[in-house]
Amino acid sequence: MDAKPELEEVACALCGGSRTGVRFSALEGWPPSRGDSYAATTDKFGAYGTIQQCLDCGLLFTSPRVRASSLLEEYQENKDEDFFLQSEARSMNAYLSLALIRRHAQAGRLLDVGCATGFFLNAARLSFEVEGVEPSKWARQYAKDRLKLEIGSSTIEGAHFPDARFDVVTLLDVIEHVPDPAGLMREVARVTKPQGLVYVVTPDCDSLSATLLGSRWWGLRPAHIYYFSRKTLTRLLEAAGYEVVEAKSFGRIFSWGYWLSRLTNYPRPVYRAVEALVDGLGIRDKFLYLDTRDSVELVARKKG
Ligand SMILES: [Zn+2]
Repeated sequence: MDAKPELEEVACALCGGSRTGVRFSALEGWPPSRGDSYAATTDKFGAYGTIQQCLDCGLLFTSPRVRASSLLEEYQENKDEDFFLQSEARSMNAYLSLALIRRHAQAGRLLDVGCATGFFLNAARLSFEVEGVEPSKWARQYAKDRLKLEIGSSTIEGAHFPDARFDVVTLLDVIEHVPDPAGLMREVARVTKPQGLVYVVTPDCDSLSATLLGSRWWGLRPAHIYYFSRKTLTRLLEAAGYEVVEAKSFGRIFSWGYWLSRLTNYPRPVYRAVEALVDGLGIRDKFLYLDTRDSVELVARKKG
């Protein structure tokens, strides 16, 4: 598959506004071919599209973008062989997320939306009764074979869960990928019990490093079609009937090699200097916990 995907222009998903200004221009090489990196999970970097800012509410989003229906098809067919390279780190990161969630809920039924290979559910099932939805057939099969997790549905809408089924719904590095985040959050709220929780992790486009790094910030990627700040994320959740109870920066554990890959868009001398240092010390595969303060994790409680 090397055809270019069909594109669509979109209005602001938060306030419906259509008055926008270009915040970052598209990089050469966007859009990628079908089956290429715009549908990949979070490890892929590359040329991103035109990123607009809503002049009414400040939300950042990609427009034009790959048509939503093609995007879902791409995610369904997505295989991310590189995912294995960071699987230990992802498991450790799952416990970092659980540490915050468990301050607000210790047990009950938990749904992970966009659960990928099930690394988070595998950690969460020590405390919760877990379910997941995930578009990638490859990832669902991995979860079943390796972790004995049955992931029945591709999307939350397709799962037709009954009202108020879950105590906690989690979205880890997911909200920035979905075509209709407001619609998704309404469905999340529908399946959540009154006083139930939602937990969201996403890059923070208002953070200091995003501001300083501008067009070179690692958060700008072809697969990310929305860029939230704490303010816009809070507004999204409040519109769906939630009240934010805790929000903080989210540090992560990754190998030095992965952290290095985040510098891909930087000037080559910077990249090469860090690469030489990492290789000189022979630490490419060693883990490092780093809070670059440019991802946000947030817990919100459903009102009522
Ligand atoms: Zn707006």
